Amino acid sequence: MTQSEPMPPEAPLTPAEEAAVEQEVRQGVLFTTVDKMVNWARRSSLWPATFGLACCAIEMMAMSASRFDIARFGAEVFRASPRQADLMIVSGRVAKKMGPVLKRIYDQMPEPKWVIAMGACASCGGVFNNYSVLQGVDRIVPVDVYVPGCPPRPEQLIHGIMLLQEKIKRDSPTRRGLFRIPGLQRLFGPRPSTAQAGAAQAGPAPTGTRA
Ligand code: SF4
Repeated sequence: MTQSEPMPPEAPLTPAEEAAVEQEVRQGVLFTTVDKMVNWARRSSLWPATFGLACCAIEMMAMSASRFDIARFGAEVFRASPRQADLMIVSGRVAKKMGPVLKRIYDQMPEPKWVIAMGACASCGGVFNNYSVLQGVDRIVPVDVYVPGCPPRPEQLIHGIMLLQEKIKRDSPTRRGLFRIPGLQRLFGPRPSTAQAGAAQAGPAPTGTRA
C-alpha cells in the first residue's frame, strides 16, 4: 500500500473486546480533581516537628512508637528541622519565656502547616493559671485541633490527627489560590470573565477616559 492510498476502515470491536477495554479503563484510569489529589497527598504525609514541652510529650512519643504506630496514618516522620515539618504538636504547657521560641519554630515551617494543641495546658493553660504560663498556645499561633486531657492518651492524640486529616480533606487549595507557581496558576487559577478577557485584548484605556 502506498502512502497516498486511504487506510482501510477499522473493524468494529466485538462485545467481548469492548468489555475487555472497559475493564482495562476501570482498572487503570482514575478521574479526580486537583483539590482531592492534593488534599489526599497532604493528609497522608503529615510530618510533625520534633518538639516536646512537658509531660504531654511523653504521650506524644508513645504515640509514635510501635504500640500505637502512627505510621498507619502516614504521620510518623518526626523532623528535627522545622523547615521539613508541616505539623506542630504543642505537647505541654508553654511558658511565656518559651512563647517566642515556639513562634519562631512555627514561622520557620513552610506552608501549608497545621497546629495541634495537645492537652489542657497547651489549649488553655490547664491548672497553671499563673504569671509564667501562656493561657493557651492559640494566643501566638493558629490552632487547628485541640486535644483535651491531662495528659491525653496516645489514642486521643491519634484521634486529633484523624480530625486534622478530615479538615485537610475538606480544604480547597485551588480556590484559596495556594498555588503560587505561575504555570499552575494559569492552569488551575480562576478564569478571567469575558469582559476582563476583552479588556485585556483591547489593551490599556487611553489617558483621560473613564474605565
Ligand atoms: S496537660 Fe497535664 S500532662 Fe500535659 S503538660 Fe499539662 S500538666 Fe503535663
